[in-house]
Amino acid sequence: MSATEQISFRVEPVTQSRLSQVDFNNLKFGQIMSDHMLVASYDNGKWEDVSIVPYGDLSVSPSMSALHYGQAIFEGIKGYKFEDGTVSIFRPDKNWERFNKSAARLQMPEVPEEIFMDGLKKLLDVDRDWVPAVGGTSLYIRPFMFATEAALGVHPSKSYKFIIITCPVGAYYSKPISLKVETHYTRAAEGGVGFSKNAGNYALSLYPTQLANDEGYDQIMWTDALEHKYIEEAGTANLIFRIGDTIITPHGDTILHGVTRRTIMELAEKWGYKAEQRKVSVQELIDGIKEGKVTEAFAAGTAATITHIDRIGYEGEDYSLPPVEGREFSNKVLNYLNDLRYGRIEDPFGWNF
Ligand code: PMP
Repeated sequence: MSATEQISFRVEPVTQSRLSQVDFNNLKFGQIMSDHMLVASYDNGKWEDVSIVPYGDLSVSPSMSALHYGQAIFEGIKGYKFEDGTVSIFRPDKNWERFNKSAARLQMPEVPEEIFMDGLKKLLDVDRDWVPAVGGTSLYIRPFMFATEAALGVHPSKSYKFIIITCPVGAYYSKPISLKVETHYTRAAEGGVGFSKNAGNYALSLYPTQLANDEGYDQIMWTDALEHKYIEEAGTANLIFRIGDTIITPHGDTILHGVTRRTIMELAEKWGYKAEQRKVSVQELIDGIKEGKVTEAFAAGTAATITHIDRIGYEGEDYSLPPVEGREFSNKVLNYLNDLRYGRIEDPFGWNF
């Protein structure tokens, strides 16, 4: 994409920061946005006018194609503050790669490194003071892109906006969760868009998740679209199990390939665990729980890193998992990743950006 050559990077700072109004000890997820946002426009086949401007409303056309035909994708990344004040983002290059895979699948233009990665850096330079330093907190970073062509008719939009907004988020204490194995509704099918982080994948999950909530479960465990036989992922996180002596995660194009999942599987291998990415059937999991072979089960994602699973509902029966305290692998991973991301230990992998 030679379109980046003409890019001019403009910064328009706020006249009055909102920082002093924020209670950093009492942050609700996604409610308070940092002072600035990065906005880039794609028009006539190229990206132009990349600016860092005060966070604020956008003006859009009612015929804007994203609103009608759903070309809309996003990412979720976290930035952390070390004790010495250094601001670090965890593996954003992997989010950039995934973002462009989502873009390609939805017939949207790729966002070049100069805008996504350098833009991220410049935005966090400007809003460095918004990265909270209170223990366990972080800055949630939301890059997204949507189609802006003002015209009805199903076709790829000719124009797009790429935006990055950020918000400080509180320490995430995650209680163990219960999951309902979903055997009717489907999140993604082979050949579909399951691997992409597009807005529609979240819209479709809301109704079945509400039904699961009504039955007393926190989240859904999605299964394959054809037979509802193989486990896919959970809500907005990937699934990882320890069955026997092996750390196992479901694999395939119908799931979103999480950065956290990838990180944890890489660590498992480096630490000498047997680690496998493969199909896991619901039956294998249920039999394993009954036989005491499933010693750990958790959801992995940017929000909480690891959320332990304590109960799984399948065809009207509930299956309980072993107590959280004894889960050697997941607790070790969680502590290690927290230490790494807050700069308390060496970063041998170059994961801190
Ligand atoms: N699956 C889905 C559907 C998600 O929304 C997320 C959150 N991005 C994940 C898995 C976990 O991905 P990551 O570890 O990159 O946050």
